[in-house]
Amino acid sequence: MAGEQLEFGDDARSIALKRAWERALRVLAGNINKASFESWIRPIRPLAYEDGQVTLAVTSAFAREWLKKYAAQIRASLEESLGSPLEIHFTLQSADDRPLFGEKEPEGREGEGARERGGEQRPTPNAQRPTSESDSLPSLPLNEKYTFDTFVVGKSNRLAQAGAAAVSASPGAVYNPLFLYGGSGLGKTHLLHAIGHAARARGEARIAFVDGERFTEAYVTSLRERKTEEFRRLYRSVDIWLVDDIQHIASREQTKEEFFHTFNALYQTGRQIVISSDRSPRELREMDERLRSRFECGLIADINPPELETRVAILERRCRAEGWSIPADVLFFIASAIQSNIRALEGALIKLVAYSSVMDSPYSIELAQSVLGEYFIEKPAPRREAKSVPVETILRAAAEGFGTTVDALLGQRRDKNVATARQAAMFLCRELTETPLTDIGMMLGGRDPSTVRHAIAKMEALLNYDPSVRRLVQEIRSNLEH
Ligand code: ADP
Ligand code: MG
Repeated sequence: MAGEQLEFGDDARSIALKRAWERALRVLAGNINKASFESWIRPIRPLAYEDGQVTLAVTSAFAREWLKKYAAQIRASLEESLGSPLEIHFTLQSADDRPLFGEKEPEGREGEGARERGGEQRPTPNAQRPTSESDSLPSLPLNEKYTFDTFVVGKSNRLAQAGAAAVSASPGAVYNPLFLYGGSGLGKTHLLHAIGHAARARGEARIAFVDGERFTEAYVTSLRERKTEEFRRLYRSVDIWLVDDIQHIASREQTKEEFFHTFNALYQTGRQIVISSDRSPRELREMDERLRSRFECGLIADINPPELETRVAILERRCRAEGWSIPADVLFFIASAIQSNIRALEGALIKLVAYSSVMDSPYSIELAQSVLGEYFIEKPAPRREAKSVPVETILRAAAEGFGTTVDALLGQRRDKNVATARQAAMFLCRELTETPLTDIGMMLGGRDPSTVRHAIAKMEALLNYDPSVRRLVQEIRSNLEH
């Protein structure tokens, strides 16, 4: 246990402190419930004993807060062992770790660290190691853009976001582990990073973000290089462990076993664990049952594909952040077309901006449509086998519904109401008949198929964001279907 390794010279005082701490631990173990003892007391390391002051090292700001509750008991048991009145200080200090991967350690860092621990410089009560030491953690860097501020919350991700926020505010205390799952591009990685940033801003130093693949890689390397001890020590020294895409370790026996032990070591000492996966714990079939049931001890939150409002809000937020001014109907058009992946949604927006600047053309639905061509795989639900309605009937119903005439639909007028009625007519022809777009175009005054496609896309967008058009078109449609 780290508690036995005093890291300064073995002078009489430090030996006395070490013994006293061991005795105090035994007393405290008898007085404090086991879970709290293991989580908060056991990880403490006695650091210094000087002028009636004892400095105890804790590994997180959170632990330091928590320990205030036990400060009196700890002081009393140490006073008893050392036989004199004491003042107790807690200081943040972490184990001596070197990176397994991630950001490079700055030159000379090792030497510096060694000196710090070597004994010439006795740690003082406020001998905190700089937080920049977090780059010696087994962590991949956090993306600055993935914060809670930039995360748009909607019905689809509310639970996951709330869980993540709670966990970053009180690591280890509320939901442990927090398990987030959902399809690709729905914000799992974003939330994990957001937890990391928020916890860091609150003074948590030892935050490690890793993904299933990198964990596996690092473990395999440590096996090959016979450094599994170091691997373990490193991984078990973190306070907040963010593990992304756990499904990537699910099929590897040895890595799974190691993961299990790391998980347990952290869990039992009250460290916060957050896991993301592309499927629920139940569906992680290759995962050990022991682990699956551990995952289920905390909060499991799924992230679903975002609703239209959230998709639009995500696009709007991004435009604001980047200073792009794109008309609302174009954003609605994109948000309507791409429904199940936020990465693709943002990708389309970025592509639109690039096209617009390269082709020097303004933002428009037409431009968005040509940019989005490749995404049009996301079609609405397949058309059901409806009885076919004659195109003429549809035209008449649409004209009537919008208070215009069939002639106007076939003509060239572009005023808003007629244009919308025409789009509705084309949309309904596609929904209710098997007529090819070319023929729909022909029957609507000789328009070409791309115009028809565009009109239908525009109507789909309108249906999503204009409730009055939606009601009207639904009404026309249900009349036609009966
Ligand atoms: P996952 O890890 O689930 O595959 P990511 O976290 O990598 O997804 O998210 C994909 C992209 O979508 C990222 O750029 C992310 O910032 C963005 N994103 C996802 N969800 C949201 C959201 N709710 N608000 C803002 N951006 C989001
Ligand atoms: Mg991800």
